[in-house]
Amino acid sequence: MKPRVPQIMEQLKKQRPEHIAALDLKALPFSKRIINDKKVTDHHAIIPTGMPPRKFGTNEQLVYEAIVTQFIAAFYPACIKNITSVDGIANEVPFQAKGTQVMEPGWNALFPTKKKAAGDQQILPAFAKGETALHAPFLREGKTSPPKHFTENSLLGAMEAAGKFVEDDKLREALKERGIGTPATRAAIIETLLRRNYIRREKKQLRCTDMGRCLVALIKDPLLKSPELTGEWEKKLKQIEHGDLKADTFMAEITDYIRSMISKNNNSQLDNSRWGSCPLCGKEVIKGKKAYGCSDWKSGCPFVLEPEFRGKKLSPHQIQRLLQQHILPHPVRLENELRILILSTQGLPMDLTPPSAKRQNSEEKKNTPQK
Ligand SMILES: [Zn+2]
Repeated sequence: MKPRVPQIMEQLKKQRPEHIAALDLKALPFSKRIINDKKVTDHHAIIPTGMPPRKFGTNEQLVYEAIVTQFIAAFYPACIKNITSVDGIANEVPFQAKGTQVMEPGWNALFPTKKKAAGDQQILPAFAKGETALHAPFLREGKTSPPKHFTENSLLGAMEAAGKFVEDDKLREALKERGIGTPATRAAIIETLLRRNYIRREKKQLRCTDMGRCLVALIKDPLLKSPELTGEWEKKLKQIEHGDLKADTFMAEITDYIRSMISKNNNSQLDNSRWGSCPLCGKEVIKGKKAYGCSDWKSGCPFVLEPEFRGKKLSPHQIQRLLQQHILPHPVRLENELRILILSTQGLPMDLTPPSAKRQNSEEKKNTPQK
């Protein structure tokens, strides 16, 4: 691969003379970050061939230009920034200010910054250690906004970076290189969720349907709903790839896991000798004077379940179901509406709209683009 790069650069000179002039084609800085044969799996990076493009549409031209820019930028020097960080104390309250100043743009020179991003860079004046001055404090009032709904793009990104949501370091490492699915299968996973009506498109956003919410509530095993499980599996697949684990051992583990999951879920009998487990720490739940709570409250577990939810008194039987199975099998009437009551993994009681074919169909019609 390496010998071809200078040739391709030579051919790209016609299109990007000033960008390539800054590079020494005889001594391109090949590092493992740029070309690493060990990391080639099913796809390598998309790079220009050097052939001049013929008859591109506008979008195709934009994609092509982006690939060329990225290719050239890989061989540019690093971007050097001055980062100033100031720790201050005002009226005994600590605060921090940060400023960034680009000293040498390096590869960044190929990517003109948008106005907004440039505005984010604040340049701080020179500070001396221990200096004090008078400041007039002011309050800025604002409101936090809820997390944005996923779009197809941001969901693909989240699947790719699924490791971000994993706390265990080793599993995060396993997910770092793979994420959920592969670049070739991620889009198909989203299409399957759409086709099965667990999510729907609302303009550019992807929204969870009532059915999707109920599915998540019905899956009792929290591991099955977490990126940790995918991380664990990806880690083992990697061990198999390197010959450190036998494929049969892995498959036997999966079979055991599924067996135990089915037997646990088939057993819908309530254990009447106890209330249930604390959803936060797994210890037993006890009944207090006014509410139910974690038996380990002395060590600081904050779990409490009130016996009343949105004006409805919950029977001891319903409390037991919520604590042992996290969902009530029959919808309950809340403020004259039928709702499904669940206990979330964070230990909060929540109510969901029961899925209905009629509602699902009308939502779908509303969101199908009219031709
Ligand atoms: Zn607890």
